[in-house]
Amino acid sequence: MNSNGADRSTVAFVGLGVMGLPMAANLAAAGFPVRGFDVGEQARANAAAAGVEIAPSLTEALRDAGVVITMLPDTPQVLEVAEGRGGIAETCGEGTLFIDMSTISPIASAELAERLGQRGVRAIDAPVSGGVKGATEGALSIMVGGAGADVERAAEVFGVLGGRVTHMGPHGAGQATKLCNQVAVAIDIQAVCEAYTLGARLGVDLTKLTEALSGGSSASWVLSNLGPQMLADDPSAGFRIRLQLKDLRLALEAATQLDVPLPAATGVNGLYLEAAAHGEGGNGNQALYKVYERLADVSLNALAD
Ligand code: NAD
Repeated sequence: MNSNGADRSTVAFVGLGVMGLPMAANLAAAGFPVRGFDVGEQARANAAAAGVEIAPSLTEALRDAGVVITMLPDTPQVLEVAEGRGGIAETCGEGTLFIDMSTISPIASAELAERLGQRGVRAIDAPVSGGVKGATEGALSIMVGGAGADVERAAEVFGVLGGRVTHMGPHGAGQATKLCNQVAVAIDIQAVCEAYTLGARLGVDLTKLTEALSGGSSASWVLSNLGPQMLADDPSAGFRIRLQLKDLRLALEAATQLDVPLPAATGVNGLYLEAAAHGEGGNGNQALYKVYERLADVSLNALAD
């Protein structure tokens, strides 16, 4: 640890998928001693090709690491790496800083941090927004939950991975923030799809519609960034529908546990399920427009110039 309280010891990086790989590679390129691990053979090979040292097992990756970062699909995988055989609880020493950057359940995340804390492992949740582009460019927005001193220890790591770092509050607050973001984005996408669908049926030029709306009260990041992709009939990912569905499920599970009605998120979840049922789970989340095209029997692209 240096005089600022930041930590530059060996980083075990677990989960080297489309997000984890560029993040681990950026840390290695910035001079952090990184040891990576992934259960997927292809992911390990890709990471090795990108300059990340690969450990032969999870336990070997974790052994003597000062910092452990996970970038895994969902809650069960994070619990497995944290508390399964040869995982963090078994292998990591007291004072290890565990940074979970996956998007998982805020309630499970807070409970896990509490259990690991009883073993002396300092856990923080730090999910991200910004996608593969943000991960590659080291420009992620990082939403953090946990104790202030632990968040400070992560400062140098976050400096490499992210642009904006917001310490939201105690354990689970980072995950809670991320789920709020995912609910808002999904509903924003639905709003743009509905405006385009109505516009198309009214015979409006949708490129001009985008220009007009962008200067008014319905201007949004989704309209400016994903709108043109919808009009170009480009469903490619991006942030995949499969992941959008996972995040909506996490948000709706938390809402159900707490008796919070989320009618709009519930509705858009159903529409994303329709996309998945059509085999479109690998498309980007802007591809909700294809569901609307089916519902209203319309082609957005035909109305764009
Ligand atoms: P991904 O599926 O590409 O990568 C996950 C990796 O974890 C895979 O390589 C998989 O083999 C590995 N893995 C699974 N179980 C494992 C285990 N037990 N031990 C070791 N490795 C294991 O997913 P991704 O797109 O990189 O997303 C990772 C997380 O980041 C998710 O929680 C996602 O919601 C979140 N996220 C993704 C994006 C995005 O644009 N893709 C953006 C923001 C946040």
